[in-house]
Amino acid sequence: MQQTANHHDAERVVGYTLHGRRYLNVTHRCTLRCAFCPKYNRTWDVQGYDLRLQADPTVAEMIEAVGDPVQWEAVVFCGLGEPTLRLDDILEVARDIKTRGARCVRINTDGLASLVHGRDVTPEMAGCIDALSISLNAQDELTYERHCRPKLPGAHAALLDFARKARAHVPEVTLTAVDGLAGVDIAACEAIARDLGVGFRRRVLDQVG
Ligand code: SF4
Repeated sequence: MQQTANHHDAERVVGYTLHGRRYLNVTHRCTLRCAFCPKYNRTWDVQGYDLRLQADPTVAEMIEAVGDPVQWEAVVFCGLGEPTLRLDDILEVARDIKTRGARCVRINTDGLASLVHGRDVTPEMAGCIDALSISLNAQDELTYERHCRPKLPGAHAALLDFARKARAHVPEVTLTAVDGLAGVDIAACEAIARDLGVGFRRRVLDQVG
């Protein structure tokens, strides 16, 4: 594994590399307040990278952090925050790196972008976003609310609707859920993904990124 920064660095980490993929640390802001989030356990460290941001990186800084996009298996918008809170900015970066040969551009998201922005944003992703990894987190609203503590009502239904609509515009849509959280039924989460016609990936607690 290639690591070019560690938690002793004074400079903020805009981009970091894991397994040939380039991750962009878009924002620290979130729509959720997940009880299991490393942020709320006072750690901002993901696999050796300190992802604390004093200020969100600019579009130019994110493009610079990608460098030559051809070299990466994938470029991933993530955080320890929700990248789609900066939807226009990440789509601008995505369009730029796609025209310069990015192989796969992915967003790791809570799936609440349409709820937050008040419109169906999935068509805007057509042509520049290749993959979405959406945190389903729980099989029903009650369990979801308990673990993710969304700031907006209707979040669980909104994320399912987002995943359903995204299929028409984004080639690869995957729901994820964290195994090991109380009350989370991984098989039921997987069944939801199957019903929606999207992929599913089980994540392990305490492994973000
Ligand atoms: S969405 Fe991710 S970063 Fe935001 S609170 Fe939940 S676990 Fe933390």
